Amino acid sequence: MKIIDILREDRLHLSCELFPPKQGAQLANVDRLIGEIAALGPSYISVTYGASGGTSAHTVHIADLIQNRFGVPALAHLTCASSTHEQVQQVIGELKAAGVENILALRGDIPEDADFPLPNQYRYASELTAQIRASGDFCIGGACYPEGHPEAESMQADIGHLRHKLDAGCDFLTTQMFFDNHLYYQFVYRLRNAGIRVPVVPGIMPVTNGKMIKRTMALSGNMLPPKFRSIIEKYGDKPAAMEQAGIVYATEQIVDLAANGVNNIHIYTMNKPHVARKIFENLSELIGT
Ligand code: FAD
Repeated sequence: MKIIDILREDRLHLSCELFPPKQGAQLANVDRLIGEIAALGPSYISVTYGASGGTSAHTVHIADLIQNRFGVPALAHLTCASSTHEQVQQVIGELKAAGVENILALRGDIPEDADFPLPNQYRYASELTAQIRASGDFCIGGACYPEGHPEAESMQADIGHLRHKLDAGCDFLTTQMFFDNHLYYQFVYRLRNAGIRVPVVPGIMPVTNGKMIKRTMALSGNMLPPKFRSIIEKYGDKPAAMEQAGIVYATEQIVDLAANGVNNIHIYTMNKPHVARKIFENLSELIGT
């Protein structure tokens, strides 16, 4: 099933993200991981792609399992910054052969200490989007950033660049995580004003590890609202309390988004099915309405 058709439905869905586990043992358990997430009834499951190789080989395999063994629509991420046109084409062909219909087309982060782009590499995700569009009947998603992409000279320029992705054939957008819903609402308002009408799926990260999020936010320059900072200061060193507070915070974000008419919300599960399960349980009366 194409994700764009799910996004057009007028009822609340939750979707989930997995990343290919790195360790051998974890990878061997990937079936169980997918099974636990699939049992929650997500509208689709996305699987990330290692920008610099590494776990990227597993993305096609995991997307195949999600879709063909567990019967859940799969969204395979695909990055191009560390790949040649030919390598990217090969992965597109593998996804097509596995019957995976949905791809999130990304540039990926530019590899350090490397000449970029080489003559047979793409500079931007929009170019990858065009290649996927020319390669088959895929539903294509793209990334967007409610606080602006760190490399963009301004939010206006970043939104301007999103248009290239849409012109190249992108059907929907998924946001970077954010912790203040007003950032999402303002961003979508700016997109609509710029004539961008595709669905914009908010990405919500349940933060269950205080130290990790402080590092991530320092690197991305994203904003931590005072309410959220207090939670991390109080519970960041108490793992069980931090996990509970992170689940409650993410649940509240989702309730607010749903109440304001957002119909599909993507949960960055960080390969923690028990965290995703608690969020689904918290929202059991909202899902599907
Ligand atoms: P682009 O859309 O190419 O944008 C990159 C920068 O270039 C932006 O600043 C943009 O404004 C600018 N730009 C775009 N087009 C032009 C143009 N024509 N002229 C001038 N400037 C331009 N990374 C992974 O490695 N693996 C993943 O699985 C993964 N999944 C992600 C999922 C989501 C939902 C998000 C939000 C991000 C994900 N990332 C992933 C991270 C992403 O790869 C990085 O943020 C990367 O730096 C940018 O990727 P992009 O696709 O947004 O790039």
